[in-house]
Amino acid sequence: MRTARSLCLFVILLFGSTASAPAGAPPPGTPVQSLAQVADAARAITPSMMLGHVRALAADDKQGRAPGTAGEERTVAYLVGEFKRLGLAPGNPDGTFVQHVPLIGFTGQATAAFEIKGAPMPLAVPDDAVVVSRQGLPDASVAKSPMVFAGYGVVAPEFDWDDFKGVDVRGKTIVMLAGDPPVPDPANPAALDQQVFKGAALTYYGRWTYKYEMAAKKGAAAAIIIHETGPAGYAFDVVKASWGRENFGVAGPDEASRHAAVDAWVTLDRAKALFSACGLDFDALKARAATRGFKPVPLGATASFTVKNAIRSLSSRNVIGRLEGRDPVLKHEYVMYSAHWDGFGTNRALQGDQVLNGALDNGSGVATMLAMAEAFTRLEGGTKRSVLFFSPTAEESTMLGAKYYAEHPLWPLEKTLADINMDIMNFWGRTKAIVSIGYGMTTLDDLLVAEAAKQGRIVLPDPEAEKGYFYRSDHFELAKQGVPALHFLHPGADYRDRPPDYGQRMRDRYTAEDYHKVTDDVKTDWDLSGAVEDAQLLFGVGLAVSQGSAYPEWKPGTEFRAIRAARLKAK
Ligand SMILES: [Zn+2]
Repeated sequence: MRTARSLCLFVILLFGSTASAPAGAPPPGTPVQSLAQVADAARAITPSMMLGHVRALAADDKQGRAPGTAGEERTVAYLVGEFKRLGLAPGNPDGTFVQHVPLIGFTGQATAAFEIKGAPMPLAVPDDAVVVSRQGLPDASVAKSPMVFAGYGVVAPEFDWDDFKGVDVRGKTIVMLAGDPPVPDPANPAALDQQVFKGAALTYYGRWTYKYEMAAKKGAAAAIIIHETGPAGYAFDVVKASWGRENFGVAGPDEASRHAAVDAWVTLDRAKALFSACGLDFDALKARAATRGFKPVPLGATASFTVKNAIRSLSSRNVIGRLEGRDPVLKHEYVMYSAHWDGFGTNRALQGDQVLNGALDNGSGVATMLAMAEAFTRLEGGTKRSVLFFSPTAEESTMLGAKYYAEHPLWPLEKTLADINMDIMNFWGRTKAIVSIGYGMTTLDDLLVAEAAKQGRIVLPDPEAEKGYFYRSDHFELAKQGVPALHFLHPGADYRDRPPDYGQRMRDRYTAEDYHKVTDDVKTDWDLSGAVEDAQLLFGVGLAVSQGSAYPEWKPGTEFRAIRAARLKAK
């Protein structure tokens, strides 16, 4: 994909070069909008407007924006009010701006214990193990279930990989390692093999959601992941905090069969103690699990769990607005921007400030989405395709709102050309470089590069691909259904007029001090000049898709290319 300007500099010409044009698309080179018109619309995005949205979303009256609370009512009312003020059409074909998402909330009290040859090994919940039951039932118990070490718990035919080797784990408790199997490169054993599980980058197989899904598929009674900060991507404290409060699931009769009775994490320390009490060498087994020849190993121990869930049903909402395209044919195709509105709510157990305001996560992303809605609605001449502004609920609970949308789409997914997702924006100043999470997976990155070049900026790949951020926000649920996705989360790199390590320092400080805490609040030292530039950039990318002649595509070798091809073929 490339973008060129005409000699007179008054029109942007959009050319497609990577994908076949859909029926009804304009021929390459069709004038769309003057540069002045695009610049005018982009100027609608300002620091004060974005800050105003963040202040409103992070205000204490929104109570941290937990699904199913008065905070949700106020947040949804704010978003719907903004969509109406901007003159957007309802994003739901039923004539409303919301999609109801039936959820259950459950708060569990759990116990956990291992037993090794008659000797009990008690576990403190949640300091040694975090235990939940996601089946939507008030009680779950697993009694003396034989434990089996199943390596990384991965079945990946494309890599000729199967950690189960046909071993029946029904009714058992499977113990798995976090992350992808780290397979050494045969040519350079110090590095990881790029051909298997994408080297150091995390794939979906390394995510805990995958491992628990696999455990349920195999009929295990319980699934335990051994926590290690590196492969998990975060410290055990983060698991404790996010799993220890009320958790959510989609309500429905199928849920019990989609989960094992118990999903748990155990600390590395306790796992090592368990293996050693069983007379097994943890490090040796871990090394063996990084090979294709690995077979499940019975530990000679049992696991017992009880979980009592206080359950409530609630109806939460995805919020969605639509700017209708002007082309009679192409208006039935869509470009989506997404940014989750939900946060972690209010923690009454805390002293002092109890509201987890979620200013950056994800007030900043929602503010950016609203800023782009403002720009698109000011764009003279409008867009050919329709643009969706989608704010899902329950992202912080395994992306349930986006998952629900992806399984119950309001607009055809095969006609949804792209999802551009925003989750935590850069409020620390202007950068010369931006980072695309999952860089290189889709042709949307080529558009991002072209648009960034107009701002005199460059695009860099994710420097922390091993943490798998691409699999940790709403666009991933759409990607799983084939929709090409761009994920914007990283604060960028190479800050203007700042020391080289400034961005990493600010990011590390945010992660350590504010992320998912009451202190994720509006800060006096914020500088939104970079966020405005990023929003204008993402406006440009979405605009190019909305007016362009090419369908964005997954690049060869990506997990989601096959499902996209199948959906487009079935169209
Ligand atoms: Zn977020």
